[in-house]
Amino acid sequence: MLTVVEALDAITSVVAPGPVESVPLAQALGRVLADGVDSDIDSPPFDKSLMDGFAVRAKDVATGTARLVVVEEVTAGEVAEKSLETGQAIQIMTGAPIPDGADAVVRIEDTEVEIDQQQTLVKIDTRPVTTGQDMIQQGTSMRRGDTVMPAGRRLRPQELGLLAELGQHTLLVHRQVTVGVLATGDELVTIDRQPQAGQIRNSNESMLAAQVRACGAVARELGIARDNPEDLAAKIREGLDCDILLLSGGVSAGRLDLVPEQLEAAGVTQVFHKVKVKPGKPVWFGTSEDAIVFGLPGNPVSSMVCFELFVRTALRRLVGTDPAIPCPTAARLACDFEFRGDRPTYFPGRLENQPDGPRVTPVNWHGSSDLRSTADANSMIHFPAGDQLYQARQWVEVHEWAGRA
Ligand code: AMP
Ligand code: MG
Repeated sequence: MLTVVEALDAITSVVAPGPVESVPLAQALGRVLADGVDSDIDSPPFDKSLMDGFAVRAKDVATGTARLVVVEEVTAGEVAEKSLETGQAIQIMTGAPIPDGADAVVRIEDTEVEIDQQQTLVKIDTRPVTTGQDMIQQGTSMRRGDTVMPAGRRLRPQELGLLAELGQHTLLVHRQVTVGVLATGDELVTIDRQPQAGQIRNSNESMLAAQVRACGAVARELGIARDNPEDLAAKIREGLDCDILLLSGGVSAGRLDLVPEQLEAAGVTQVFHKVKVKPGKPVWFGTSEDAIVFGLPGNPVSSMVCFELFVRTALRRLVGTDPAIPCPTAARLACDFEFRGDRPTYFPGRLENQPDGPRVTPVNWHGSSDLRSTADANSMIHFPAGDQLYQARQWVEVHEWAGRA
C-alpha cells in the first residue's frame, strides 16, 4: 500500500499541465497564468511626487526654512516646462513628474504662499529637507524587462491590477479543468427525496462538485450510477469526456464494489489502489488516454479528505500551479488530545488565528461517515500513525480546506 507521499508523487508524475487559452483580463480572476510576464515599462515611469506641495532643491531647504520664488505649477498628467534654479520652487500635485533640477518635495501643509506685485513666494517652515523626500524614483517598483509574474500564478485582484498596469489586456491562462462527479450506490436517492428503509441521500455529489468549484474548476454533476456493470459502464463512458472524472463509492472490498473493474474495462489504467491514510484508504487512481480518474471512497468524509489531498493535487498540477502537492501550515493544539491510530490520520479541525499565533481545535469527529462534524471544521490536522497523547499548545501540521467562507 502506498504512503500519502508516494501517492502524491504518483499523481504529480502522471499528470502534466494541460492546454492553455487566451482570455480578456476582465475574465481572468481566479485563472492560472500560463506564461511568465515581463514588464514593458519602468514603474513609476518617471520620478514622481507623492504629495501635493512644492518641488524644491533639497539644498535650498537644508535647514528646514526657506523663502523660494514659485515659477510654475505642474499637475498630474503635465510636464513642467521650466527647470528649477537655485532659490526657486514649482508648485506640484500628487502624481506629477518631478521637474528637472528639483530633487525633493515639501508638502503643502508645511508651506505658506505670499503674493506680492512682482512674484509669488513660498515660505517653508519644516524639518530639514533631504534629497528624495516625498517623491518616488522612476523604476523603484519595477524596471522594463523585469519578470514580474511567473507562470503558475493564480490571478487575484492585485495581480489583475498589476497586469493592467503592464497593458496585458489579453492573458494566456490555463484552460479551466472540467471535472465530472459520479456517485455510485444502490442505496442512494436524490437530495429532493425522502429516503426509505436502507436508503440515504446522495450528499457526496453536491459536496464534491462544490469542492471542484472552490478550486476554480468546472463541475459537471453526472448523477447516480447503480451498482451494476451496465449502468456503471454507461455513466463512466459519459464521465470520461471530462478532464477529470471523480467517482464516489464502490472502491472497497464489498461484493458490489464494481468501480475498479468497470474503470479498467472502460480503458482506464490503474496507477494505485489503496493508500495508508485515514480516512480514505480504498482510494483508487488511474488514467485513460484523455482523462484522469479518481475512485473516491463512498463515506463522505473519506471522499472529502481524498479530494483535498489527491484530487486537488491533480487539479493544481493540470493548471501548472507550483507546488501542486498540499502545503501544510503549523498551529498549536488548543487542548490535550489523545490520538489512537495505526494509519496517518487527517482529523477535522477548526483553525483560528489567535493573537499568539494559529491555534487548532480537533472537532468532535465520529469517523468517516460523520459529515456533520466537518461543518464545524475548516481544516484537517495531520496526526502520524501511532498512539500518542498530544499536549495542549503542542505544534501540529494542519491543512486548510479549499472551501471559501
Ligand atoms: P461504498 O464505498 O460504496 O461501500 O460506500 C461506503 C459508505 O459510503 C456507505 O455507507 C455508503 O452508503 C456511503 N456513500 C456512498 N456513496 C455516497 C454518497 N454519494 N453520498 C453519501 N454517502 C455515500
Ligand atoms: Mg457502494
